Amino acid sequence: MGYKVLALKYRPQRFEELVGQEHIARTLQNAIGMGRIAHAYLFTGPRGVGKTTTARLIAKALNCRNGPTPTPCNECNFCRDITSGNSPDVLEIDGASNRGIDEVRSLQEKIQYLPQSNYRVIIIDEVHMLTKEAFNALLKVLEEPPKHIVFVLATTEPHKVLPTILSRCQRFDFRRIPVQLIKEHLLSVARRENIELDESAALELAIRADGGLRDALSLLDQVFAFAVGGRIEPAIVYNALGLVPLSEFIQIASSILNKNPLQAIQHLNALVDSGRDLTSIAESLVTNFHNMLLVKLGATSELPHEIVENLSSFAQLATKEDLLRILFILSRLQSELKYSLKPKYQFEQTLIRLALLDSVISIRELLAGEDKSIACEEKPVTSETPGLSTEKKREEVVQSPKERFCALFEQSRGQGIGAILEHASLIIDEGRIILEFPEEQETMATILRRQENIKALERSASLVWGENTKVEIILKKGVPGAKQVSAEKMETKANEPEPSKAEMDKVKRILESFDATLIG
Ligand SMILES: [Zn+2]
Repeated sequence: MGYKVLALKYRPQRFEELVGQEHIARTLQNAIGMGRIAHAYLFTGPRGVGKTTTARLIAKALNCRNGPTPTPCNECNFCRDITSGNSPDVLEIDGASNRGIDEVRSLQEKIQYLPQSNYRVIIIDEVHMLTKEAFNALLKVLEEPPKHIVFVLATTEPHKVLPTILSRCQRFDFRRIPVQLIKEHLLSVARRENIELDESAALELAIRADGGLRDALSLLDQVFAFAVGGRIEPAIVYNALGLVPLSEFIQIASSILNKNPLQAIQHLNALVDSGRDLTSIAESLVTNFHNMLLVKLGATSELPHEIVENLSSFAQLATKEDLLRILFILSRLQSELKYSLKPKYQFEQTLIRLALLDSVISIRELLAGEDKSIACEEKPVTSETPGLSTEKKREEVVQSPKERFCALFEQSRGQGIGAILEHASLIIDEGRIILEFPEEQETMATILRRQENIKALERSASLVWGENTKVEIILKKGVPGAKQVSAEKMETKANEPEPSKAEMDKVKRILESFDATLIG
């Protein structure tokens, strides 16, 4: 007997063997056990997670010599024919290649005949690919299904299936299989096959399979062939599949976050020299920066702990907004690489650009400082030690508009009165400045409301934000006072009004002048 690919050899033959879809297996087994058999099932979910395998299991459960039974014997002729794909009672149609009305018409004819066993099971894979006419013909059958027919429709894109069909099916949503489960399954298959598979290598394969068990087993096949029977370690996986190891990603990423473009390019070259293609490198960057963002948000339940561990200290180097912007630029690179005449150049330029990005500034900040206090998004390459505090450095040199406002007011009214501003939150709102005090600091508000202070406040505000800027002083219940007047803290997020259209135009203008990007 020739070599059988692992995905086929280890295709589950019992409901109990389904990996990661226990909820579906149990529901189906219970229903079949109680004799409650639907005429049409719809299986949705990503590719390679067990949809058609489960469809075949239903066929077996219904048609086994002992059937309908939740535990088909796998030994009778009916079961064995289904396992080998030779059962006349199971019809598998690929909706992607047999999508026309003729196929569905011939199907209509075929279902007239009685099955040899209990049911004729029609499995239509990728059912959303059928043409409209074929859908309508299918609908006719589903409206009055012959008693001996069971349909199992499978799709990766349920939203493309007609609602009239959806409503006639019992629906099961298959989930992506968690990395940990795939890893364990790979290890167990490897044991049975006498393949020496490292646990960390299994993890790499599982991550790569992206929730699909079939893909995971195909990858194991591929890597096993590459290893020529030897032990499978992570390095073998990386080389066989042209993947970028996490450690290498961390090197490139830290060059980017430490704003060292030269080093980033050197790491890129090293990867290319070791035989990685640019597409895989870009993909690895996107995947890992995305994971970093998840780590940053604490959304790590789906991530293997090895990855969380490796990325978490590292994620401190960037803000969420920075990561979003990096991902935005990398995703664009990913799609452009395919068509680029000089992909390597483009990759290098992107890395340089990423390494020169300043921290993200909010739209409010951008608007408040449209004057000279806004630094360019990208700074020129300098020989100074690369650091993370570019944003800070900028603030040291140039005061933010709010800081200038406070300084001007203090100059005109003296330190004592000036210090009162430290207790207020500052909100910029359509040509006026609102100073908000917590209720318990009403005295401070009262002092500032004196005519001479209001005048000084408005004079200072007009110097910073333009002629006739009004200043309003309000009290807010139950809000602790701002301890410190800083660009970030003075603004109460909840009170931040949405930017108006005029403001957005202004933002666009600023962005254009700096080749900057709006990331939402
Ligand atoms: Zn059987």
